[in-house]
Amino acid sequence: MPDIHETVLEIDLGALEHNYRYLRSRIRPATKFMAVVKASGYGSDAVAIARKLVSLGVDALAVAYASEGVALRKGGITLPILVLHPQEGNFEEIITHNLEPSLYSPRILKGFHEIARREGQKGYPVHLKFNTGLNRLGFWENDVRFIREEMGESEVLSVKGILSHLGASEDLDERDFTERQIAMFRRIVQEAEKALGPIPIKHLLNTSGILNYPEAQWDMVRSGIGIYGYGNDPRFDPELKPVVSLKTVISQLHRIEPGETVGYNRAFRAEGYKTTATLPLGHADGIGRHYGQGKAFVIVKGKRAPIIGNVCMDMLMIDVTEIDCKEGDEVILFGKGQSADEFASYAGTISYELLTGISPRVKRIYKDRNPG
Ligand SMILES: *Cc1c(COP(=O)(O)O)cnc(C)c1O
Repeated sequence: MPDIHETVLEIDLGALEHNYRYLRSRIRPATKFMAVVKASGYGSDAVAIARKLVSLGVDALAVAYASEGVALRKGGITLPILVLHPQEGNFEEIITHNLEPSLYSPRILKGFHEIARREGQKGYPVHLKFNTGLNRLGFWENDVRFIREEMGESEVLSVKGILSHLGASEDLDERDFTERQIAMFRRIVQEAEKALGPIPIKHLLNTSGILNYPEAQWDMVRSGIGIYGYGNDPRFDPELKPVVSLKTVISQLHRIEPGETVGYNRAFRAEGYKTTATLPLGHADGIGRHYGQGKAFVIVKGKRAPIIGNVCMDMLMIDVTEIDCKEGDEVILFGKGQSADEFASYAGTISYELLTGISPRVKRIYKDRNPG
């Protein structure tokens, strides 16, 4: 990589390929693989991630909202795209762009059916999402009869898939709960197929589901965080490679005398002679104030340096007193030498939140072992 002169989010498509192949190796060859690229590909770049995955043979993609699916279509992606959270206001847009809605309630099913009928659709592919304990989105088990009646003999919609979502697949202390979710999904699948006929794609597992409950893979799995390099468990860290790294550079060094303070509201007070470095990123870039006040560390020349004082909007300061470094040197927030999981834990959060919060202001740069 060339030297960097500003804050960048480096996206390593070779690491993406590695993670994809690893996760595939954990499931049966015939099981389809849906890659979840919602929230800009977990904060990276959904179109770049999707293009790479298409070249690797991924079967389908998932996004949270319709607008994210439209952006993928505009980026030239022609694969099936599941919209996990379709909303009344975008049913037409979903149909125009040939996106597949995950219908999750009588209201949403009725509404989508009506629009699809009005648009003259025949056999429009939809997925039915059931709640099995997460209690977030989903039909109830006893909605099967409503679904049967709503579909009637109409040929407007075609049930391509049925899904549910695990609530604690990464937490092995919740194995009983997860097993109950799996059993409930099995029962719902049976009832739904009895009422509606065979449903081609039954899918339940997210990343931690793939790793911990592969017996419940049915016809397809949906992986998000895993393809970006995180398995929610130190056991899997050696198998996965982080796709994104947040890097920056030292803008300026300051020598601080005892008793001087650094940053807004004088939140850091030097007890001795200190050397501090100012970095060109702040809470507007996704590194919130909760990383300040000495709680989080960044990596300079392979060593850990604490973030001191209050994180500003566009800058933050670190203590490099013990580190031999100069202006222009590279600084790593997460990536090589410190994972996003570790960095997130300094602020009591998780990789998902940290990654998806890196703002569009941060330049995305790409690295590919085998470009093209
Ligand atoms: C986000 C999401 C996923 C992906 O979960 P990971 O833990 O990132 O693998 C899968 N299914 C649904 C319904 C989701 O909302």
